[in-house]
Amino acid sequence: MIEMDCTCVQKHHAIPTEVIEVSEGAIEKVPEILKGYHRIFLVADENTYDVAGRRVEELLSEHHMLSHTLVLPAQALPNAENVGKVLMEAGRDTDVYDINAFSFNPDYILAVGSGSINDTCRMVSYRIGVPYGVVGTAPSMDGYASVVAPLLNGSKKIVYTCTIARHIIIDLAINAAAPYPLLLSGVGDMIGKYIAILDWEISRDRNDEYYCEKIANMVLEATGQCIEASYTLESRDLNAIRAASEGLILSGECIAFCGSSRPASGTEHMIGQTWEVMDVEEGKIPNLHGIEVGEGTFVAIELFRKLYRETEDAHIRGLIEKYLPAFDKIEALQKTIRIPFTVTDKARFIEGILRGRTFRVRYTILQYLYDLGKLEEYAEAVYDVVMEKYYFNTFRERFPEWQR
Ligand SMILES: [Zn+2]
Ligand SMILES: [Zn+2]
Repeated sequence: MIEMDCTCVQKHHAIPTEVIEVSEGAIEKVPEILKGYHRIFLVADENTYDVAGRRVEELLSEHHMLSHTLVLPAQALPNAENVGKVLMEAGRDTDVYDINAFSFNPDYILAVGSGSINDTCRMVSYRIGVPYGVVGTAPSMDGYASVVAPLLNGSKKIVYTCTIARHIIIDLAINAAAPYPLLLSGVGDMIGKYIAILDWEISRDRNDEYYCEKIANMVLEATGQCIEASYTLESRDLNAIRAASEGLILSGECIAFCGSSRPASGTEHMIGQTWEVMDVEEGKIPNLHGIEVGEGTFVAIELFRKLYRETEDAHIRGLIEKYLPAFDKIEALQKTIRIPFTVTDKARFIEGILRGRTFRVRYTILQYLYDLGKLEEYAEAVYDVVMEKYYFNTFRERFPEWQR
């Protein structure tokens, strides 16, 4: 259990996570960390099985802790089909079929992978009431410690409440070897946190929404560290990998402390996730989450900058002003790391902003502008600015070998 006292109305925050291990060679400690479990169901995909799953399986087997393993196809998506597969394979059939017997569940689900595998296992863990943990293979998103999982269900992406990981094990050597698009995705997911907290502050003041200053500050601090670390990520510097991993885990922890993704997801996620859903609706495989969110962050920054210049609402101006230096930092970082774009078409870009407003029930600058009757005008106006300042290449141009 990780807990802290607080000055907000909740007074105390706690999550059931028992161990967070971020170190070189961390996977060798898996049997020690998971001692007490004897029927561990290991889930990986073909890629994550190669980089970590096989070794974890060996270790668990040596210690008589393994029930069985399921290896999903490479880059398996967190969709209803894969949730179903994990659920169907979770139990082990006994030799003698007993019509009156309940299925023999594992006593633990161990996800070996990053976003997709983790979200898939987290959902199954929640539904069948079996604890789960994760061996993370890439610092690509902030969902390791989260309490929600965005899952693809038909042509919809729905955010479900799920189980929180009991154990989070990050082997820095493995994470440092992760494909670069996944590292960039982690940066993209993280830079948006400034937007999320600013949206949260605006809603606190306009709608009297619950707000926790301590959580907000923790997220902002982790974001600052991640931005610094991002400059040396491409060289696979272990300190940078550590800072990125820890920042992403902390962000997830804050989601869990809060009980919702409010501290980590605002306008940038609503736009990025709308683009993801548009792909799904068209039968395409969605792009990496953090890459979409990164582009959504640039859009949000320019929406806020424009509002700051034009608004006569002194209170909103004051709130935005605090974040202007952070916006400058993100703009400078983008000039170096050049997060590629997934959406360059103007109509699609604008549709993401307009539909993003209602992606979920969450008050953001998108609703603020809509209520003023200005959302369309703003969406139209920021397109050229975003393309000019932040766009260098598309994801496909930059990473042609990537499957998605
Ligand atoms: Zn609090
Ligand atoms: Zn995210």
